[in-house]
Amino acid sequence: MSALPPPERVEGFGLYNVSVSPVFRPGSLDALREALATCASNGSKPVFRGAGRSYGDASTNPAGPVVEMTGLNAVAGFDEASGIVRAGAGLTLGDLWKWSIPRGFWPPVVTGTMHVTLGGAVAMNVHGKNGWKKGTIGDHVESVSILRDGCRVEEIAHGTRAFDDVVGNWRLPDPIVEVSLKLKKVATGYLDVEATAAPNLAATLAGLDGAKEDWDYVVGWMDCWASGRSLGRSVLHVANEHPAKEGEPRGLSVEEQVADIHTGPVPAPVLLLGLKLTAAGPQMRFVNFGKYAASLLGGRARTRQSLVAYSFLLDYLPGWNEAYRPGGFIQYQLFVPRDAAEAAFERALDLQHEMGVVSSLAVVKRHRADRFSRGYALDGFSLALDFPVTRKNASRLIALARAFDALLLSCGGRAYKAKDCVGSVERLAAARGAA
Ligand SMILES: Cc1cc2nc3c(=O)[nH]c(=O)nc-3n(C[C@H](O)[C@H](O)[C@H](O)COP(=O)(O)OP(=O)(O)OC[C@H]3O[C@@H](n4cnc5c(N)ncnc54)[C@H](O)[C@@H]3O)c2cc1C
Repeated sequence: MSALPPPERVEGFGLYNVSVSPVFRPGSLDALREALATCASNGSKPVFRGAGRSYGDASTNPAGPVVEMTGLNAVAGFDEASGIVRAGAGLTLGDLWKWSIPRGFWPPVVTGTMHVTLGGAVAMNVHGKNGWKKGTIGDHVESVSILRDGCRVEEIAHGTRAFDDVVGNWRLPDPIVEVSLKLKKVATGYLDVEATAAPNLAATLAGLDGAKEDWDYVVGWMDCWASGRSLGRSVLHVANEHPAKEGEPRGLSVEEQVADIHTGPVPAPVLLLGLKLTAAGPQMRFVNFGKYAASLLGGRARTRQSLVAYSFLLDYLPGWNEAYRPGGFIQYQLFVPRDAAEAAFERALDLQHEMGVVSSLAVVKRHRADRFSRGYALDGFSLALDFPVTRKNASRLIALARAFDALLLSCGGRAYKAKDCVGSVERLAAARGAA
């Protein structure tokens, strides 16, 4: 019997959920088989891990080993005519776009960070800012390959029952080893982005809803500190593909994509330090106000941005989650049906004010209904809320999360495991099962 590797600290991205687990890092299928055989001979059930970008406990394992899949990251094939790429499950979206953009292709769905693996994206069935038009990543996956029972590779095609069992299944018993994804052909690597201010919650939701047919990407950055008539005010960012024009750069190189990523006059290390000093403090009220006020002053501004700069705003400050040590932070993303959204989000905002824990960063999106049985997206809106955890606010935060659970139960909403740090997904499933 081979021994398990020595245990090490394994963290969720929010740094709040932690396990101490033996970690395997196979770099090939054979090494993966070996790792799974070692787990089996020790009687332990592994949890698979991609890049560890889930906020909570999805890829930690208090009960045993973790198998990190990032070593299986090769591009195995590409059909230019169909745009279908076949790649190892450990390839990140970041490495994928760097490979695909010079060929004129872009991933059909990307998350707010490029540092997620294809396997992790499929196991959570992630969404992007184009959720209304393009759904979730599972809609664009042609097939997945699974290593069954630790030995044989089985390819599963889209549309089968077995496929439906993989997409969004964050506790797969067998690892995804390869993903075939249909990429999107793009004429340029740029987007035309429009930013507008929405003065309250009703305007935020109406703005996103009204933009969803005319714009490919639709997202709002909400200021949760605002209250009264300004409750739910947001900066809305909508974007469409920038068409190719004679004499203009195409933006189809990695250099052109990253050239648009900058943090303005303040260098990233200074911003990080600022975040560390203010993350858990009331100063975030002024940061949120400043962002909203700037959008008011800017009017209905239209700018050209690279796909990378627009899509991965949260990657501008590498390692920003470290600013939240030692307590870490939790995220809670509420998915709510369209007709219930205004009342539900108003309550979610009021609850934060009543309990004295207000989100430092809040993102609102429009979604269409998920096509997969383990889905979380519905025809409606989501509101993702970040909260730093401190010794002073920890118990109020848990109470707030339980109140959000009750709110979702009452309005037919859903929680999302990729963001769940406090067991809400399991609680809601148990409550609905019992109902
Ligand atoms: C800054 C930031 C922004 C984000 N924005 C979005 C967003 O816009 N939309 C969105 O939907 N999500 C978003 N997320 C969440 C993130 O996309 C998901 O949590 C995603 O699953 C992370 O991928 P990962 O490779 O890090 O997987 P991990 O977090 O390591 O794992 C995720 C799940 O997949 C399983 N898994 C991973 N690899 C495999 C495999 N090869 N085989 C079987 N199971 C596997 C794990 O067991 C776990 O349950 C964001 C996260 C961050 C940190």
